[in-house]
Amino acid sequence: MTPKIALIARVGAHKSFLDAGVERLGVRGYDTPYGPSRPVHFFRHEGLEFALLSRHGEQGYEISAPFINSRANLYALKDLGVEKVLAWVAPGSLNGDMAPGDLVVPHDVLDEGKGGPHTFYAGVGWGFIRNHPLFCPELRKGLLAALAGVPFRVRDGAVYVATTGPRLETAAEIRKFRFLGGDLVGQTLAPEVFLARELELCYAALTYVVNYAEGLAERPYQPGVLFEGLATAAELARVAAVEKAFPEIILKVLPALAGAPRSCPCPRLMERYRLRGDLGDDWKTWVR
Ligand SMILES: [Zn+2]
Repeated sequence: MTPKIALIARVGAHKSFLDAGVERLGVRGYDTPYGPSRPVHFFRHEGLEFALLSRHGEQGYEISAPFINSRANLYALKDLGVEKVLAWVAPGSLNGDMAPGDLVVPHDVLDEGKGGPHTFYAGVGWGFIRNHPLFCPELRKGLLAALAGVPFRVRDGAVYVATTGPRLETAAEIRKFRFLGGDLVGQTLAPEVFLARELELCYAALTYVVNYAEGLAERPYQPGVLFEGLATAAELARVAAVEKAFPEIILKVLPALAGAPRSCPCPRLMERYRLRGDLGDDWKTWVR
């Protein structure tokens, strides 16, 4: 099993593919210098092998965003020979034009989080990586082309504001993030995207909006329901339709992403340090 592409997705994502009849070749966990990764599932669909990892858990919501071991997860994928990563993410909307159930391909991140380890390169002199373009331009292009014709509204471009979690944001924080130019808010894309770049992985995100962020609409507090009433039943129904279509959407876009050229900057994000003689060919000697 030598998948070159991986999907990092929601809770129990492997079950969606199994239910859709996609062939699973195996599953295993990896011990890494940063601790164990989440289990990696290997699937094959129409000749394309891909790896799949659920950030938050296999059976249910087992670990909240600030405690996800993104370093272990990405180290395991890199060790497998993965070159491209698609992140499937469920943010809230800061932008009245991006509604629950919309698919949005972000182009930038505003990192407002104060979460856990954010680098592989602690205590060394490398890792000063330029972050524009932040997401792999070839993967973004392939993703947007492959999404043409899906029965959901697709938006090209958004600034994703990353917060720490697990708590949701206050209305005042949401006002600040909107003022700063944010379109989406969530807890998972950072530090994941930055860590992926440190390992020279191509990385792009496909997000689906799950709610309007706090304060965008007047919503009474409802104990015991999802987001305590932040989303309406109609909005949650639109979100459920996207979640139902998740395996179809992914199987539609993955071949396009697998076929995208790596003529992007991603494979050479650390080139400066190679040329400087700090880094050798074996990436495992780069990380700490
Ligand atoms: Zn790339």
